[in-house]
Amino acid sequence: MEKTLVLLKPCTLQRGLVGEVINRFEKRGLRLAGMKMMQLTDAILDEHYAHLREKSFFRILKDSMMSTPVIACCFEGIEAVNVVRAMAGATNGRNALPGTIRGDYCMSNQQNIVHTSDSLENAKIELARFFKPEEIFEYESSNLGYLYALD
Ligand code: UDP
Repeated sequence: MEKTLVLLKPCTLQRGLVGEVINRFEKRGLRLAGMKMMQLTDAILDEHYAHLREKSFFRILKDSMMSTPVIACCFEGIEAVNVVRAMAGATNGRNALPGTIRGDYCMSNQQNIVHTSDSLENAKIELARFFKPEEIFEYESSNLGYLYALD
C-alpha cells in the first residue's frame, strides 16, 4: 500500500467542488487516511513549491494558494501515488484529458483544482510536511477483497 498527498486548492473550495473531488477518489477505491483544512503560509509554500522558486509565476502561485484555506487529504491504496496523479491529469486544465479531475473541472494552468504528489519519495516528504503522524489513521478497510482481489 502507498499513501499520497492531495491538496484541494482554493479554487476548489471557491467553486464548491470539494465533495465532488473527494468523492472521485473514494469511488475509485482509495482509502481516506487523513483530512484537514489548513491555511497555508509563505514558509510552507516555499518548501512545497521549492522546485518552482525561479519561475515567473511563483509569487502569484503562492498568493493564490494562500487566498483561502485548502483541504489536505491523505489517500491510500496499491500504487496510490500513480493512480491519484493519473486521476488529476495534466497540469494545465486545458490540456488535461476529459475524465481526469482537471480535464473535467478546470480551464486553467494555475487554478487546477488539486495538487497531487508526483513520486512515492515526494509523497512521504509532502505528507510529513502537511500532517502530524497522529493525523494519519490506520483503520481497516472492509472491502479490500472486492477492490483488489488477488492483485
Ligand atoms: N503552475 C502555474 N503555471 C505554470 C505551471 C504551473 O501556475 O506554468 C502552478 C499550477 O498550479 C501547478 C503548480 O504550479 O499545479 C505546480 O506545478 P507543477 O509543475 O509541480 O505541476 P503539478 O504537479 O501540480 O501538475
